[in-house]
Amino acid sequence: MLSAKKKGLEVRCLRCNERMNETVLDRYEYMEGFQLFKVPGFQCKRCGNLFFTERQVDDMERRTEELKMHTFAFRRTVAVSGKGLVVRVPSDLAEHLNLKEGEAVRILPVNHDGFLVEREKEGRRSSK
Ligand SMILES: [Zn+2]
Repeated sequence: MLSAKKKGLEVRCLRCNERMNETVLDRYEYMEGFQLFKVPGFQCKRCGNLFFTERQVDDMERRTEELKMHTFAFRRTVAVSGKGLVVRVPSDLAEHLNLKEGEAVRILPVNHDGFLVEREKEGRRSSK
């Protein structure tokens, strides 16, 4: 039980040099505003300092990106233009996607509640 080498990976606290215990945090924000639950990491039992291995950081990044995908939503009202309907693309989103005026996009229905707007891939642009 007291053997430090037993688990293979021994992590020491950078602040107080205490051995850090492998733990699972109930909640942790790897990126501000995006709370993750049940996050594995290492915690110093003396000062509470946290440490994550490279693999754990990769995992938190991946989970945060997934969370962003589901959180990053905008509310817009449908407007009319000629015979069609118009939904404006928020400037933040356009910037995030680097979407420019004149670019070709494809609109795909998704079940009965919505649609997906997707940038047309370079290769396909000429067809249709
Ligand atoms: Zn410590």
